[in-house]
Amino acid sequence: MQKMAEHKGCGTSGGSGKASCGTGAGENDMPTEIWEKVKNHPCYSEEAHHHYARMHVAVAPACNIQCNYCNRKYDCANESRPGVVSEKLSPEQAAKKVLAVASAIPQMTVLGIAGPGDPLANPGKTFKTFELISEAAPDIKLCLSTNGLSLPDHVETIKKFNVDHVTITINMTDPDIGAEIYPWVFWKHKRVTGKEAAKILTDRQLKGLEMLTANGILCKVNSVMIPGINDDHLVTVNREVKSRGAFLHNIMPLISSPEHGTVFGLNGQRGPSAQELKALQDSCEGEMNMMRHCRQCRADAVGLLGEDRSAEFTTDKIMEMDVNYDLSARQAYQEKVEEERQAKVAARNAELETLAGENADLKILVAVATKGSGRINEHFGHADEFQIYELSSNGAKFVGHRRVDLYCQGGYGEEEALETVIRAINDCTAVFVAKIGHCPKEDLLKAGIEPVDQYAYEFIEQSAIAYFKDYLAKIKSGEITHVTRGDATIRQGAFVSVDA
Ligand code: SF4
Repeated sequence: MQKMAEHKGCGTSGGSGKASCGTGAGENDMPTEIWEKVKNHPCYSEEAHHHYARMHVAVAPACNIQCNYCNRKYDCANESRPGVVSEKLSPEQAAKKVLAVASAIPQMTVLGIAGPGDPLANPGKTFKTFELISEAAPDIKLCLSTNGLSLPDHVETIKKFNVDHVTITINMTDPDIGAEIYPWVFWKHKRVTGKEAAKILTDRQLKGLEMLTANGILCKVNSVMIPGINDDHLVTVNREVKSRGAFLHNIMPLISSPEHGTVFGLNGQRGPSAQELKALQDSCEGEMNMMRHCRQCRADAVGLLGEDRSAEFTTDKIMEMDVNYDLSARQAYQEKVEEERQAKVAARNAELETLAGENADLKILVAVATKGSGRINEHFGHADEFQIYELSSNGAKFVGHRRVDLYCQGGYGEEEALETVIRAINDCTAVFVAKIGHCPKEDLLKAGIEPVDQYAYEFIEQSAIAYFKDYLAKIKSGEITHVTRGDATIRQGAFVSVDA
């Protein structure tokens, strides 16, 4: 597949309007057969992504189109971007890697093929990998992400291998706009350029989407928001894919930096700001379920969304591993994960009841440092991303995440990194952390962001609702005045810091 948009994953589901976005929907918000498909899929369920992991295997090197935001040659150990991989695998290596990861990370429930090229431009390797994995680890869900050019030719095979989650990257349905995004497509043994290429691509994408949904396969559509090119047009794309049965729409920011060597990066094409992205996602949310927790993962990512454990599972390491795929041990572990998840939901719902009667129009954003499990369990200085929640009298809704450089490096606070963190969460009223030092606390307060550590290790949503209730009470009593926050920056470059 290609770069940023293609990778797999999927979606979400209708929202309850209470806790989380559409992807935060629960068992009662959808038909049972759909719930079974999404309940432990970290990409199709925002709630599941706090608890379950996914992995990608990079078995598909070739691509059949060129996107102006993609450069598959670029790799960096600290980079996280679709289309980026450190090693390409054979189907046999990939199958061993999946078993190794599934044994070591029992909450890994999803295997996706997302590149680094397009899985359907490499159908032999892609489907051989699915075959090997479905025989050896039948409990793992199979996904693929595609640019859609070859999709209509492979729908029957996708069905045959029980791949029931497919992501299609659709950045436009208007060939005039497409010509600005795609220099060429490789079609019927020749390279086609310009509007003609874009027309072929959009026709094939929409046809493939229709065929998949007609066959009951859950589809997510990824769209890359490119300011000045397709940002306004994505509302139309949203309507088009909804009308063809897409389950979820994932509008992602363009990742564009000269160091990536992409056409957009080299030409200075900017990505959207945090508030531009949120405004577009909000405007589409009434139309269909929006995914807001996508991490635009590498094509060889491993672990919970937002973490990357791929370095623990290099080919050298997995080939030496003694793999013992124990299905019952995995199931037992996942039952414990479910207990924790249910406890989190119950705590959130109980806290939500205490907001009853509040009728404020007020909405604020807060940033949360978390390592997973839906808890505030990360130190401020060790966070390489913050999750963003919108708080209102409806509860706490997940609306995105922000990658940042680590503030704490080698035991010391890095002032330069702190500035980037503040820029990344500048639209937030508060930041929830498990722990924070005196210096960053001071700087955050100066920037108008309240550091909050009183809910350390508690559940995120329950804590956020309690905070919001106090916030409203303080406004009512005159103790504080609500201040409208500004915009924030979405990180564009590669990570420059090392993991703590
Ligand atoms: S979060 Fe990662 S795995 Fe999930 S859809 Fe986005 S890129 Fe794919």
